[in-house]
Amino acid sequence: MTKAKEIRNGKQLCPRCKEWKYQSEYWPTNHTATGRRVYCKICSVVKHREWAKKYPLRYMNGMRASRQKVKAKVLKHYSNNNLACIWCGEDRLVCMTIDHIEGGGTRHFKKIGKYGSSFYQWLINNDYPSGYQTLCMNCQLIKGARNNESAKSGYLDNG
Ligand SMILES: [Zn+2]
Ligand SMILES: [Zn+2]
Repeated sequence: MTKAKEIRNGKQLCPRCKEWKYQSEYWPTNHTATGRRVYCKICSVVKHREWAKKYPLRYMNGMRASRQKVKAKVLKHYSNNNLACIWCGEDRLVCMTIDHIEGGGTRHFKKIGKYGSSFYQWLINNDYPSGYQTLCMNCQLIKGARNNESAKSGYLDNG
């Protein structure tokens, strides 16, 4: 995918729109000799959209894969780099979640307005704030039940 690219007066030719554009019009990348993408920013977006339309499944999988990457990164950080539930060692990504050590998760989610994958991204953007830990769904449920002994929710106390 690396093509030798010509730079003229600080400008690079975009093969799609056939325009010579300043390098600032191209996103940086490590994959080309010029250090910039082959297509200009505008064409990159258009091409990406076309690709997403043509290969919806691959597009969806790619989105999911990148979300999982973000999730794994955060879970790893909050489990002492083990990428596993800190209580029971559950290590299936789909089972794990970020737990608020002090509780009050739902309130906090509402406050920052982040849910799911955007919450993981929020944690990264905020330099991994403390007060969180990696738990699996089961352990989070158990913790919730323990913290909520007085609640007469029934089924949680039967175990
Ligand atoms: Zn272009
Ligand atoms: Zn667990």
